[in-house]
Amino acid sequence: MNPDPKELFSHAAYRDAFRAAIDALPEFDGPYTGASYDELETQISNTDPLPESGAGLDAAYAEAKQVLADSVDVTDTACIAHLQCPPVAPAIAAEALVAATNQSLDSFDQAPAATVLEQRMVERLCSVFGFTEGDGVFTSGGTESNLQGLLLARDMALDARGNDPRQDGLAGAEEFRILCAEAAHFTAAQAARILGLGESAVVEVPTDETDRMSLDALDNILEGFEQSDETPIALVATAGTTDFGAIDPLAALADRAAMYDLWFHVDAAYGGALAFSERHEHKLTGIDRADSISVDFHKLLYQPLGCGAFLVKESESFEMLARDVAYLDPEGDGPPNLVAKSLRTSRRFDALKPYLTFRALGSDIIASFVDHTIALTAEAGDIVRMNPDLELAAEPQLTTVVFRHTGDTNPDALNETIRERLFDAGDAVLARTEVDGDVYLKFTLLNPKITRNDLETLFQYVCEAAVTPEVVA
Ligand SMILES: *Cc1c(COP(=O)(O)O)cnc(C)c1O
Repeated sequence: MNPDPKELFSHAAYRDAFRAAIDALPEFDGPYTGASYDELETQISNTDPLPESGAGLDAAYAEAKQVLADSVDVTDTACIAHLQCPPVAPAIAAEALVAATNQSLDSFDQAPAATVLEQRMVERLCSVFGFTEGDGVFTSGGTESNLQGLLLARDMALDARGNDPRQDGLAGAEEFRILCAEAAHFTAAQAARILGLGESAVVEVPTDETDRMSLDALDNILEGFEQSDETPIALVATAGTTDFGAIDPLAALADRAAMYDLWFHVDAAYGGALAFSERHEHKLTGIDRADSISVDFHKLLYQPLGCGAFLVKESESFEMLARDVAYLDPEGDGPPNLVAKSLRTSRRFDALKPYLTFRALGSDIIASFVDHTIALTAEAGDIVRMNPDLELAAEPQLTTVVFRHTGDTNPDALNETIRERLFDAGDAVLARTEVDGDVYLKFTLLNPKITRNDLETLFQYVCEAAVTPEVVA
């Protein structure tokens, strides 16, 4: 039975599909079923994902429900491993509208209202971060935003030296150096590699005892460059490191960037959300002096993947990316085509998600989520400190707690085992990380539903998994 194309693109068809989708959303019972990779492979390899004839909407969605049941439940407070948030309802429905309207932000004639709304959103974001002459563009997330920031840094530096990066590529960039803290996200080094500078162009500045970039170490490195051929072009600060949530001393780094004429990029993929919180925004003091900022909506701002923004302090910075594409006519007198600001061509209307979220809920609610998870993270630190079997790697700073169980002669194997046991049993999804080569466990609190009780239960699971007999190597 072949459905009539006319019916496939009607409101009635969308309504049926949305209803089938809602029905296919599993009612989870716990953070994970505990299914192993091998079990899932056996189950899923039985289905042909590209059959010649379809089984119909209801059958296909019912089948997908079985597959989706083996998802981690991001709304469960025991799903607490990574920067993977429970998206808020208005944003989930917005995602469906993004798909249904399928606007493409590369040109105005593919996305008229979306072009204007994204611009408006970017303008407001610039004002939130203190950029008065700023501009920006939506991205798939921090990876793309960081790449774009360092691309501008590289090309501006070449341009300032009279080279033309568009025509001549990397000529003149041989001695370029990018500075970031040891604790910076790996995508800074990855960007340097993609940009042809190589990871050896990245100079890692040591961190202090709070995991923030050490200013003394930075000053030594910067002074050292003056007696060498190396040319520092960019300073990357992190506002919210992945493990410890550390925020580099932004204002002091802005001073260094100004003094040495460096592009100052702030990777606020995680911590940028603090800008919406009256209680915590002071922690970002100095971010308005950045040349560019990465901020992710799909972390501490409760949007479904992917949704990020890349902002620049001076709107002219985007001119570095300009190119002529006849059919996209970026130089015409007509309305702007946002392709000129993006590394992508076809691009989703992701701005609709935070737009509908903030319009529906208001920034106060989002800020209260941020405040609550930060407060609860501090309590998680207290709980660890009061438990003689557990030890903190560091005081919590944002919404992560890095800790380990100490009750074994081989704590690395023990903590590894604890994480695996809780995952395999479907009791909790925790992260593992390493601190100075030692294995630690990590909670990342994003879920605003979490209570002190939930945290106590989670630590109890950890302690129980540590004493369960067998396995421990
Ligand atoms: C998550 C994160 C990234 C990577 O961002 P994606 O959105 O996953 O592409 C980069 N930097 C920091 C600090 C992050 O937390």
